[in-house]
Amino acid sequence: MPAIAHVEPLSSARALRGPFDYLLPDALGDVGVGSLLVVPFGRRRMLGVVVGLAGESAVAPERLAAPLEALEEGVTPELVRLARWVAEEYCSTPARALSLVLPPGTGYGSRPRVRARTALSASLTAAGAAALGGEGERLGPRQRAALTALAASAGSLPVAGLPSNHAGLRRLEARGLVRLERRASPRRPEHRAVGSAPAAAPELTGAQRDALGVIEAAIGAGRTERLLVHGVTGSGKTEVYLHAAGAALGRGRSAMVLVPEIALTPQIVGRFAARFGDTVAVLHSGLSEGERYDEWMRLRRGEARICVGPRSAVFAPLAGLGLVVVDEEHDASYKHEGDPRYDARHVAARRAEQDGAVLVCGSATPRPESVHALRRLVLPERVDGRSLPPVEVLDMRGAPTALHPRTREALEAVRRESGKAIVLLNRRGWSNFLCCRSCGRVWDCPHCDVALILHRAENVVACHHCGHREAVPQACDACGSVSVARHGAGTERLEHELRTALAGARFPVFRLDRDVAARRGAAHARLADFAAAPAGVLVGTQMVAKGHDFPDVTLGVVLDADATLRFPDFRAEERTFSLLAQLAGRAGRGEAGGRVLVQTLAPEAPAIGLAARHDADGFLRAELARREALGYPPFGDLIRVVCAAPEASAAQAAADALHARIAAPGAVLLGPAPLFRLRGRERRQIVVKARDRNAAVAAVGAAVDAVAGDRAHRGVALSVDVDPQ
Ligand code: ADP
Ligand code: ZN
Ligand code: ZN
Repeated sequence: MPAIAHVEPLSSARALRGPFDYLLPDALGDVGVGSLLVVPFGRRRMLGVVVGLAGESAVAPERLAAPLEALEEGVTPELVRLARWVAEEYCSTPARALSLVLPPGTGYGSRPRVRARTALSASLTAAGAAALGGEGERLGPRQRAALTALAASAGSLPVAGLPSNHAGLRRLEARGLVRLERRASPRRPEHRAVGSAPAAAPELTGAQRDALGVIEAAIGAGRTERLLVHGVTGSGKTEVYLHAAGAALGRGRSAMVLVPEIALTPQIVGRFAARFGDTVAVLHSGLSEGERYDEWMRLRRGEARICVGPRSAVFAPLAGLGLVVVDEEHDASYKHEGDPRYDARHVAARRAEQDGAVLVCGSATPRPESVHALRRLVLPERVDGRSLPPVEVLDMRGAPTALHPRTREALEAVRRESGKAIVLLNRRGWSNFLCCRSCGRVWDCPHCDVALILHRAENVVACHHCGHREAVPQACDACGSVSVARHGAGTERLEHELRTALAGARFPVFRLDRDVAARRGAAHARLADFAAAPAGVLVGTQMVAKGHDFPDVTLGVVLDADATLRFPDFRAEERTFSLLAQLAGRAGRGEAGGRVLVQTLAPEAPAIGLAARHDADGFLRAELARREALGYPPFGDLIRVVCAAPEASAAQAAADALHARIAAPGAVLLGPAPLFRLRGRERRQIVVKARDRNAAVAAVGAAVDAVAGDRAHRGVALSVDVDPQ
């Protein structure tokens, strides 16, 4: 009988690291690895997770404290193991990684912020039933009504809905006529109001059957296998996931389905809910914390056996996992931007391996990494047999206007025919930057070295990095000139221009970007409006290219298609290719067919040409060859460390110290290189290009801990990003 628990206190501070030993009194009840405890810590109380058990401690028993309470929100030992791996893999701390696997709302306080919700409920006692029928008891009219209501219901009813008030019910309880008790009253997200009835599955195509056969065989064999469903948009990948999930359930296993952003892809949630009903739990950020907590609990208790959610759902408390699906696996939102900077795709692969589950990644534009590492199953054609829409590349060099004449013409034709079009411009706001016409001053963010972007509807200029906002300048504060030029165009201006050029009451223009989507539910509403409208244009950033299925869109347009190519990043080609291919996938899904126009200043760029020819294989071949030559993923791993401080010299000194300390044999260190100032902090970055991933991660982790703990570098924030995006 182990008497000692190794407990990791939940703290966001890097310096506070356990585990610490606590003595387990019998009165505490069942405590195991994964239990969530309230422990005394110095003079504070903290939450802590049991990460190990032992018979005795190196610390003398009289110096050990006992936990104060064991909470019901613990997790399984497997999830603790996964969290510890995440902490190491991403150079984070055990506490920060553990907080990912605990229920939503656990936090770093002395109590979880969210608990199960209960409601006071009443039920009829035998005496109460007798009183209703007999003469002996005197009852007021409302008391009688309450007892009648309880008699009519088989079990208990929430007190709030009964005709008698609280005090009246308490008096009935005192007379032994009703029983009052607190009962769980779970918060249910509303999506399950829509169609809980299982929807019929279509007959699968040959390609779908083949892919499913491989997946089912792997699930049946109970072995970890890593598969990639590479299917063009509309080839029926989601249908394959649905069947695979059914196969996992049929074998008594559970299934996890990761999706990029639920607000933008509500269809997939709806399809799973329609097929599997209450067996599906959804964990997404559009739910309240309480709703997420209750969905999490349904999963942990095994009441729900399929979990659908965004990247954080990779940590869902599913037991007996048989299938992990990563839909749209190319999507950048799988990477988490706060510490631990985990990549849900990498964690999903690890979790599948740990739990003996089958990993199924799917995309029309898979990452070169996945093509290299996973067994590929191809769905080469759209389910309806239609070909992908023809793509025309329009050369914008020397063009005086934002829209090419052919684009104008095509939009005009869609309007005449009362059709629908999607226009993508991957830049929000009105104009890119403001510049004084007489002295050339450019309006920059006071905290970051970037230009402020004009947002005309709100009459502000805003920083897209730190969120700083100020009123639109009336005059130049350097020279006093009132003539300020606005350069470039973003989605807000494009919306305005399209409206002026095309719109009428019967041809509305809808915009979708992060400004619009800032309000909860707004993105969904905008997409629903576009879907419901008989005709119109949807303009927006890359959000408009996500997996939407609008059968009546006949025209797709991409403006400034090379914008993503100009990013100084080895993934620029991949991003550009996938954005174009994904947008092309939105057009021509219906009877009327469709076409795509791509405006660019770089018409001969290979990524653009290959996307225009729908040549994913050609792109992947070329991209893998290029990456191999340069030692980029999947042929090497990248780790990025950023040092940030108010003073440039402090950031530089810390970066130099790190550079000197990182001892990873065979790795190449790039930098320290300056990054633009962000949120008032000067930044320096080091990039490690490694051949031996584990050795490099360990070396960087050790160097960062040493520099972070060195008083000489106090005030410098260090952040580590393994597999940066
Ligand atoms: P993807 O996920 O590859 O974009 P979906 O699974 O969403 O493709 O399928 C596209 C459309 O075709 C959906 O409306 C879906 O219901 C339908 N579909 C999928 N498989 C079949 C099939 N075998 N027969 C008929 N319709 C299908
Ligand atoms: Zn000026
Ligand atoms: Zn800023």
